[in-house]
Amino acid sequence: MKVITKTNRLQKITQIALLNKNTIGFIPTMGALHEGHLTLIQQAQKENNIVIVSIFVNPKQFNSIKDFNRYPQPIEQDKALIRDYADYLFYPSVEGMYPDGFQSSVHVGKLAETLEGEHRPGHFDGMATVVLKLLHMCVPTRTYFGLKDYQQYLIVKQMVKDLNLPIKIVGVPTIREESKLALSSRNQLLSLHDKTSAAQIFSALQNGKELIMGGERDVRTIEKTIKTKLEPISKKIDYVAVRSLSLEAITSVNQDVVILVALYVGDIRLIDNIIVRF
Ligand code: AMP
Repeated sequence: MKVITKTNRLQKITQIALLNKNTIGFIPTMGALHEGHLTLIQQAQKENNIVIVSIFVNPKQFNSIKDFNRYPQPIEQDKALIRDYADYLFYPSVEGMYPDGFQSSVHVGKLAETLEGEHRPGHFDGMATVVLKLLHMCVPTRTYFGLKDYQQYLIVKQMVKDLNLPIKIVGVPTIREESKLALSSRNQLLSLHDKTSAAQIFSALQNGKELIMGGERDVRTIEKTIKTKLEPISKKIDYVAVRSLSLEAITSVNQDVVILVALYVGDIRLIDNIIVRF
């Protein structure tokens, strides 16, 4: 695995790779890599000739400086984890990505203004801006996103469609711990006690799914039941939402839906979701 830190070097490599008719699989990450990231990378390895992983803790998508500063960055551990699966690791500096005078931004509309967009102002603009920059540099055939960040996945798909990028966005199901807690780089920041509590998130989502499968159709009732399950483990629940698969608000479940939650366990904010098809 070659480590590239300069944007122009990455661009040269991908241009040559494409001229040689290679397919490129790209996985953007913020590092502190775990089995969830590795699943995306391994799928990319199966489906493409060349795999590029990026690690960049993007300051533009953080809402609080505290959250940014404490984001784990175990770069040597990350390199060791992906060495056998990625051909290139792109690991740029903040100055390399946002040189002095940088002033452009990508804004995705309605889809990015609800749920996470409401609770984390500017987050999705920061995410979309960095992802678009990375896509231009990597020119991937396929890019891999986790369905754990369901709204992010939809926003990237929308952006790629709206801006006519010839790139396939592949959604990969959420990888979970044995306790069913969704793997996340932020889990490292949880105390042992909070990690045990956080395992309740999936059981609350599962509970919502069972209600729907059992015939409950009223969205408010479902959301309320899930919230009641989550209250004992969280001081602050940002949202519990039953939405259509395109994140439209609904009042009654008569189509496939996604149940999404965002909440604090201790002072760590976690998100998760479950798709209910019937
Ligand atoms: P991050 O480093 O958190 O920005 O995540 C990089 C990519 O990995 C995103 O597409 C995430 O959705 C995906 N990802 C993170 N956690 C998981 C997980 N537990 N299962 C599947 N994909 C994940």
